[in-house]
Amino acid sequence: MNAKIIVVGSLNMDLVVQVQELPKEGETLLGIAMSENPGGKGANQAVAIGKLQASVSMIGRVGKDAHGARLLDSLQQAGVDTQYLMESTTPTGIALVTVDGHGSNHIIVVPGANFELAVADIEQQRAAIEQCEIVVLQLEVPMATVVYTLKLAKELGKTTILNPAPAQPLSKELLQYVDLLVPNEHELQSLSGIEVIDEASLKQAAIALLGQGVQALLVTLGAAGCCYIDHDGFTMYPTAKVQAVDTTAAGDSFIGGFVAGYVQHHDMAAAIAQAQKAAAITVTRHGAQVSLPTWNELSNA
Ligand code: ATP
Repeated sequence: MNAKIIVVGSLNMDLVVQVQELPKEGETLLGIAMSENPGGKGANQAVAIGKLQASVSMIGRVGKDAHGARLLDSLQQAGVDTQYLMESTTPTGIALVTVDGHGSNHIIVVPGANFELAVADIEQQRAAIEQCEIVVLQLEVPMATVVYTLKLAKELGKTTILNPAPAQPLSKELLQYVDLLVPNEHELQSLSGIEVIDEASLKQAAIALLGQGVQALLVTLGAAGCCYIDHDGFTMYPTAKVQAVDTTAAGDSFIGGFVAGYVQHHDMAAAIAQAQKAAAITVTRHGAQVSLPTWNELSNA
């Protein structure tokens, strides 16, 4: 069966070391513990969608190594179709994360195979895109591939969703292929060049991006919820108050919940409600992919 949702993006193994205090320059110290957690924004969003039982495939690249195999396994466990994932001789992407006892961290990402996801790969998987309904992207694979995929998806009449993370400048050409841009406040600020400090500046920043060709924006606002802006207006969606313990993957959970909800109901408010419900569960748990809720957990919440 062909998937309704295609995620084109990154897969990283997060290598997380816990330390008492972050090391100073030139210092060697003993860590407390180390763990390897499947991650990467593309993989996290695909897993978030798969765990909610929506039909999803992922297009991306991993290395021919143990990290790649583990990432594939994690996607499959979540019900994500992995037939369009490709293998590179370059190692799987990693994120080296050092976290101290106060929750402060240092992160170094080595993109590895993710940066080999080429335009030719997207062409090779064109049939999958032809048969889907929604294409979801982030910015952890080469920009040329992101632009090409968005353009192709629009030519094929698909709905395109871009999570512009990590924040980087976007061309006007790219923005005109985006149906829904899902930035957080910082990404919105860096894309628009407008400091977001209140509702008025948030609107102003979003309107600036609408003026550059984006059809609509869904801006995530952490504990304050989110807001939806298109050419017809601006709607705030507050979210439930929860005891947040770790906001890692909140954004990925939100996008997964939104896309899975949208493909089911084709209703913006219902999809946003599901996005916020999923993300609210995620922030009450530790970790990235492990903190993403299943369909049962969401239904019983
Ligand atoms: P991250 O980078 O940590 O994954 P983000 O910066 O991309 O997150 P946020 O805007 O912080 O994204 O959060 C995404 C969504 O998660 C919010 O729109 C909201 O629905 C939910 N959320 C985040 N923090 C909280 C919180 N403390 N309480 C309830 N919901 C939250």
